[in-house]
Amino acid sequence: MGAAVSHPPIQPDDLRHIMRRHTGTVDALIVGSGAGGAVLAKELAEGGMTVVVLEAGDWHDTRHDYVNDELSMLGRLDWDDPRITDGDDPLRLGRVNTGRAVGGTTVHYTAMTLRLDPSDFQIASTDGVGVDWPFGYDELAGYYSEVERFLPVSGPRSSAWVSGAPYPHGELPWSAKDHLIGKGLDSVGYRTEMTPHAIATSPVDGRSACMYYGFCANGCKSDARGSANVNYIPRAVAAGAEIRPGCFATTIESTGGRVTGVTYLEDGEERFQGADRVFVCCYAIETPRLLLNSGNLANSSDQVGRNLMVHSGPIAYGRFDQPIDSFVTPPVGIMTRDPYGTPARPGLRTGMAVEHLRADADQLRHLARVLQPGPLGRGPHGRAGRIQPLGAARQPRRGAAEPRQPGDHRIRHRRERRARRQGDVLLRRQRPRPHRGGEAARHPGHGRGGRKPEAVQ
Ligand SMILES: Cc1cc2nc3c(=O)[nH]c(=O)nc-3n(C[C@H](O)[C@H](O)[C@H](O)COP(=O)(O)OP(=O)(O)OC[C@H]3O[C@@H](n4cnc5c(N)ncnc54)[C@H](O)[C@@H]3O)c2cc1C
Ligand code: SF4
Repeated sequence: MGAAVSHPPIQPDDLRHIMRRHTGTVDALIVGSGAGGAVLAKELAEGGMTVVVLEAGDWHDTRHDYVNDELSMLGRLDWDDPRITDGDDPLRLGRVNTGRAVGGTTVHYTAMTLRLDPSDFQIASTDGVGVDWPFGYDELAGYYSEVERFLPVSGPRSSAWVSGAPYPHGELPWSAKDHLIGKGLDSVGYRTEMTPHAIATSPVDGRSACMYYGFCANGCKSDARGSANVNYIPRAVAAGAEIRPGCFATTIESTGGRVTGVTYLEDGEERFQGADRVFVCCYAIETPRLLLNSGNLANSSDQVGRNLMVHSGPIAYGRFDQPIDSFVTPPVGIMTRDPYGTPARPGLRTGMAVEHLRADADQLRHLARVLQPGPLGRGPHGRAGRIQPLGAARQPRRGAAEPRQPGDHRIRHRRERRARRQGDVLLRRQRPRPHRGGEAARHPGHGRGGRKPEAVQ
């Protein structure tokens, strides 16, 4: 007889069979089931709390719903509605392709799992920019290790930089493109090694080892990539959490300074779920947007929605004489973090990592946008792609604004009605596919949700 299987199933249909349904007020209501929400759901449910997770996106079956064809998957996992910022110097976010599914952005991220460098925690003291963290690297190190074991992370046996090496799984193999780029970096004296990835290189918990077919950013059919929907969510469900896909939170309700629950849209109908605690895990843009749309909640500091930072991603495209087979292996390969830290690079501030990334559908869409207008080449806001001078590209300032600090961006506080309408539109556009078990299987427990009580209108 084989050993007992100690891991829960992965696919939504199997998980729905074992999933608890919660009625009435729950201990914890989590909005968003991505990198943050899924971990919380597992930890709180395992700690004995009643947990409900509201997720705007679908709960995909990785075997049936993912297709190894980039164009078919375009827009199915990501949420690329235009995002708008305000302020003296607004960021042009355009269509940010965060994830929108059970698993959040981890359903289509590239699964690099770099740790911060110890110097990143004191950038105000050492580099004169930003603020220092209230604690240092050492305090986080143990948590990094725990997450790296759980995902699990594959990577080199030893590293030139601070990392979790040796990692729980052996590193991904170097591809032809890694050797080519490694040679180039070598020639300028930069050290290189395989990037640590949340990608299993041997079978784990019913998930396959990586098959190196390189569709990571469009959904991993093998479940080798450690997305929250294949690691944390199954554990959360096994511990008693209820996941509600297709549920768009519109308002966190509160009375007398305490939250009472969340109003959300499901299939165009407004529902309410009561909760003693509400955790907002909707990524950097939707989290402040939901708080601002909930009567400026949790904003005594007036910092909600400010200080939005993005990481820059300058892209260079290249053609090579020899085949580099860039379609195989995960998109990101080797990396260098040389030179890291301000003293090593006079004139520049704080560290950086150089990654190389294979062009996938998203990059090709970007390339098409830059080079040529057309069906794939639509620029932000539907305009045909056109590179504009920086000044011209700035959006006009909207509305009266209080004095702002440089670099102080504020996500516009849209009116609640507009947010509701948008949520409705989004749900209609991405209505969850009919479930194989039928509506009854998807909503077996009644009393969950229910209409919003008058008292909190
Ligand atoms: C294209 C891309 C590639 C990336 N690659 C990497 C990488 O290789 N390595 C790395 O470390 N990081 C990467 N990141 C960043 C990483 O994915 C995020 O930092 C991380 O997922 C954020 O976690 P989160 O829980 O805050 O949000 P998410 O993981 O995005 O989860 C938020 C969830 O909340 C849901 N939601 C939002 N609003 C509502 C609402 N009102 N009601 C209900 N549900 C809602 C969304 O649908 C989503 O599922 C990448 C990001 C992108 C966009
Ligand atoms: S390369 Fe590996 S992680 Fe990426 S999609 Fe294929 S099997 Fe999944």
